[in-house]
Amino acid sequence: MNGTTRAGLTAWLDGLAERFTLIAPTAVGEQLLYQPVAGSSEITFDFVKTDLPAKEYFLPATHPILSIHCEGKRSGTIKRGKEGIRLEEPTLEEERVIFGLRPCDARALRILDALFLEEEPADSYYAERRERTTLIGLACREMGEECFCNSLGLALDDVSDVDLMLTEIAGGEAPGGGYAVRVVTEKGEAILSGLTLEEVAGSPPKLAVQGQISIREAEAWPEHFDDVYWARLADRCLSCRICTYVCPTCRCFDVRDYETSSGDIERLRAWDSCMAQGYRRIAGGHNPRPTKAERLRNRFYCKFCYYPMDFGSVACVGCGRCIAKCPVNVDIVEVLEDVVALGKA
Ligand code: SF4
Ligand code: SF4
Repeated sequence: MNGTTRAGLTAWLDGLAERFTLIAPTAVGEQLLYQPVAGSSEITFDFVKTDLPAKEYFLPATHPILSIHCEGKRSGTIKRGKEGIRLEEPTLEEERVIFGLRPCDARALRILDALFLEEEPADSYYAERRERTTLIGLACREMGEECFCNSLGLALDDVSDVDLMLTEIAGGEAPGGGYAVRVVTEKGEAILSGLTLEEVAGSPPKLAVQGQISIREAEAWPEHFDDVYWARLADRCLSCRICTYVCPTCRCFDVRDYETSSGDIERLRAWDSCMAQGYRRIAGGHNPRPTKAERLRNRFYCKFCYYPMDFGSVACVGCGRCIAKCPVNVDIVEVLEDVVALGKA
């Protein structure tokens, strides 16, 4: 099998860190996060999933998109007209490689692509980050307690959404171990230099999958829109928004202008959340989604009804982070099973 040993992999990653910004799973306090690393010694190789997805490298939590400098603003000597006004857009980012992306987090990028790249006009900030990033997948060995990716058609070693996929072979060390390497795209091919590919003995371990759950098709969801189920479920929701912030496919954002201490105006794009009370509030104070039940219902309808109707696939990859992080145990798997049960009632 064509692959590399663990030593070959770490040497290659060290080389990548010298040529690119290398982003990989690494421990930050008690969290495991995708972070820029200086070399392979900082990387965690043995993990189920990170606490946060890699979404922030394509849709940052906060991102300046424009600075407006107004000469003389502080001194009260502003010039009339365009003279004295200078607009600055942030400079382009460096080339990046993300190592250790799980197939579910890579699939989440395809879901974001449909909205940010395939709709006209494409989102230039997102497009640039995608263009400048190469994705190295690392197949899962097992599903985590909250994972249900297999119910959404994903395999633990799915290569569809990465540029290069590594699958661990029993042992992880030579002889008789290491990583199988599959090149998926030209981008993946382009970063291979420096990686010693050799015949690696052994075969990938059998991946441990869990039982599948059924999910109702998008067209069936509208009939349950007014069911009292949503109000009952929302009773315990705290509107804390964590479920949306940890989700690799949630993508709502807001654009705000701030005055800096130097008197410039900075325009920021920042994550927003449909679970926030004021998310849908419009001028005049009207809020079309004023209750927790409506907001919680919307989160599930967005992922399993509206998005599939618009783009063809559900907007969930089964990573289970929203289950793991919700402080009051709102469990998306239970909700999906309940919606199936509503259809049988
Ligand atoms: S909805 Fe939950 S399980 Fe689905 S992708 Fe988002 S965080 Fe993961
Ligand atoms: S994480 Fe749980 S409590 Fe917080 S907004 Fe989401 S469903 Fe509600």
